[in-house]
Amino acid sequence: MNVIALTRGPWRTNAYLVSDGAAPDALLLDPVEEGEELVAEAERRGLRPVLIVATHSHADHVGGVAGAQARLDLPFLIGAGARDSLRAERERALRESGLRIPEPPEPDRLLREGDIVAVGALRFAVLDTPGHWRGDISLHEPTARAVFCGDTLGRGFINNVNKGCDVPLLLQSIGTRLLTLPDSTTVYPGHGPPTTIGHERRHNPALRG
Ligand SMILES: [Zn+2]
Repeated sequence: MNVIALTRGPWRTNAYLVSDGAAPDALLLDPVEEGEELVAEAERRGLRPVLIVATHSHADHVGGVAGAQARLDLPFLIGAGARDSLRAERERALRESGLRIPEPPEPDRLLREGDIVAVGALRFAVLDTPGHWRGDISLHEPTARAVFCGDTLGRGFINNVNKGCDVPLLLQSIGTRLLTLPDSTTVYPGHGPPTTIGHERRHNPALRG
């Protein structure tokens, strides 16, 4: 598996290009902003995005969907529970943070726990990980031992800084969906550097005690 983080925007959000390392087909995950530029960056690296997945509806994770679709005919997938807040989150980001993003399009497919998202030889299993926001999902690739968890878990922190975060639900999602993965699993978060499940299990102060 080949993972490229493209970190952009006022909150240094990680968009990811994920491919199997053989085929050019790539997943564009959480396109933070400037979707045209993210696609151009993928093409410069010899990759061809084939679909877009957003882990949740926050504006800094979907700001580049419309732009990427303007460049390539890419289906947009998001968790079933996140669809209804897409428009409201765009308006809230503008009102509260002055962040202006193009209107996210209607999703082409709604993802639920147990669904599989295929990109090249990769098979991502959808995990329901709500709490940071509504309808958050994570993508787990067991063969590659990797999980893309959006704003659920970061290296040394849990992502509970946003207004409206449901902390007990967030901790439940982490405990039942992420900490149950093998320790060697690499965690690719929406903000900050990668980590592993084992490292967070042992060292994350929000998960101890
Ligand atoms: Zn978020």
